[in-house]
Amino acid sequence: MTGFIDTHAHYNDAKFTHRSGEASALNKDAGPGQSGGEGSSRAAAGIDAAGLGAAGLEAAGIDAAGLGAAGPFADELDAVLLRARESGLIAAINCAEDADTSEICIALAEKYDFIYAACGCHPHNASKVRPGDYERIYGLLKHQKAVAVGEAGLDYHYDFSPREAQWDCFRENIRLSKELDLPLVVHDREAHMDVMNILREEKAPEGRVVFHCYSGSAEMAELIAGQGWYFSVGGAVTFKNARRIVEALAVIPDELLMLETDCPYMTPEPFRGRRNDSSYVPLIAARIAEIKGVETGEIFGLTNANARRFFGI
Ligand SMILES: [Zn+2]
Repeated sequence: MTGFIDTHAHYNDAKFTHRSGEASALNKDAGPGQSGGEGSSRAAAGIDAAGLGAAGLEAAGIDAAGLGAAGPFADELDAVLLRARESGLIAAINCAEDADTSEICIALAEKYDFIYAACGCHPHNASKVRPGDYERIYGLLKHQKAVAVGEAGLDYHYDFSPREAQWDCFRENIRLSKELDLPLVVHDREAHMDVMNILREEKAPEGRVVFHCYSGSAEMAELIAGQGWYFSVGGAVTFKNARRIVEALAVIPDELLMLETDCPYMTPEPFRGRRNDSSYVPLIAARIAEIKGVETGEIFGLTNANARRFFGI
């Protein structure tokens, strides 16, 4: 079985309950190519693990004992991840949305050795940033399993934060990624020109940016590829009305393509509407393979190599 890497997930989301199971068994026994025990040595080399386990989850408003966050889609995170590992998940990058979720992402990365963290501030939360939040995120990004800054960017579809606040927040995230020499996970919704302009103004480095859930045109894809920046493609490519991403795939170089779920959102067909998780990545890979006229295994091979290079995992 060929495994795959999910480069954008939100297992910190309340749609997944964080009921605590025996993570060590999950780390050691399920999925291909993983060694147990790696997580603890990483934790030892990083920030204080004891300060960020269950305590970190509680501080961030999540009940680590499993009593909270039981919504209509509630499930045990262990069970979801076990299923994903059985379907071939090698690694997943869990993306934060603010300082609190950055802390949860680090706690989950400490619990599961195949989970890595991206810490940063989403444009939706730009106007809610409190004094000290960027310093907290900076500290969390020094953890051994923090592999990227994000997700960060601009969202003009919802405009949940005023645009001036979004611009400032995006710039802060780019500065964090440059200062710590970590790649940047970009969220761009209907803000293509401004995202490109701010990335250029802040001199985001060549090869160190990924446009997650890429939704731009083929023309913009050429500009992005010209900077050596990456694209990650998720469930939207399977939707019946997907036209732009199909056109963009024709110009996205193989060496800049990655796969993601953006779970619990963006569930691929034929399961659109259900809660998403990493076990659906093969549906996305199969559709991309069909569009490109290659075998699905080839898509797994090249996207895994790209994700390992980009995130250094
Ligand atoms: Zn996301």
